[in-house]
Amino acid sequence: MTTIRQLTAYLESIAPLAYQESYDNAGLIVGDPNTPITGVLVTLDTTEAVIDEAVARGCNLVVAHHPIVFRGLKKLNGKNYVERTVIKAIKNEVAIYASHTNLDNVAGGVNAKIAEKLGLQEVQILAPKAQTLSKLVVYTPDADLPAVLQAVYEAGAGRIGAYDHCSFRMGGTGTFRPLNGSNPVVGTVDRDETVQEQRLEVLLPTHLEGAIVAAMKQAHSYEVPAYDLYALTNSNQTVGSGAVGNLPAPMSGANWLMYLKETMQLPLIRHTALPDRPIRRIAVCGGAGSFLLADALRAGADAFVTADYKYHEFFDAEGRLIICDIGHYESEVCTKELIGGLLAKKFTTFAVILSGIDTNPVQYFT
Ligand SMILES: [Zn+2]
Repeated sequence: MTTIRQLTAYLESIAPLAYQESYDNAGLIVGDPNTPITGVLVTLDTTEAVIDEAVARGCNLVVAHHPIVFRGLKKLNGKNYVERTVIKAIKNEVAIYASHTNLDNVAGGVNAKIAEKLGLQEVQILAPKAQTLSKLVVYTPDADLPAVLQAVYEAGAGRIGAYDHCSFRMGGTGTFRPLNGSNPVVGTVDRDETVQEQRLEVLLPTHLEGAIVAAMKQAHSYEVPAYDLYALTNSNQTVGSGAVGNLPAPMSGANWLMYLKETMQLPLIRHTALPDRPIRRIAVCGGAGSFLLADALRAGADAFVTADYKYHEFFDAEGRLIICDIGHYESEVCTKELIGGLLAKKFTTFAVILSGIDTNPVQYFT
């Protein structure tokens, strides 16, 4: 049977926990990772009603976008909905896992799903993250090269955009002198050696550094392989906040709002003034996205679809683009489809069910 650990390892291969924001609390929030899974209920929010639904439908794991525990819990006596939900989950042996800002921050994540719903093309990350890439340079004897390459590729190195097995190599001469206490594969103690070596370079995600270096050392025949790790300042085009893409054809401002309302099934849109020009380039950010306005403008967006805009923040549009606040729940409810789709594609031994509960705490009186 599949364990919770196997499922979360798969989700984290797509949305690594290392990519969550510093304030976040994504990961396994309640439960034992070694538990075999009976069924998975996918939800945007975990509430008491969602735990009841999981129990009723034979699911012992809830996978949510929003972490039910966000700040520290100091007491657990049921005085608020967070504590009651956690207590109910523990009593009923239902585990809770959240894939939150880490799922927002990857190329195939929440914002890609919103972009797909809107039919956007040429989709890119709106604000690519820096400090997530490193470079490994390792010196190998010619004969070790294939095994070392294979090992670092398998551990996650050498991927750039839609390419894998990316590396650079250059031949040269390595020198060393084995000292007393060494056990050299090549050379003799106390004698200077020169060896024909390859300088091998691969790009890697910084959070996999430990695993990739370990794999390299395992495959390398030297007792002490020589290698360098460099922190890169390049921004990572596949990791970051928001997304931007183009509509297949330009629309008028009024038609765009109608299209947005219908596509995302919105009860209403709070928006800034419509410009006189056609709308083509669209920036999106599920949930609270006002921090990305400058990035949306820099990317040349005509409209910015997000949520949780405050009154004074709407002024910042200054007629340069249409801010479209579609509601937090409405912008992210498609996360259920996204996570459900990923799980159903990978696992077949248990049911993956999308929660039927509307957890939106905001209601509209129109
Ligand atoms: Zn959210």
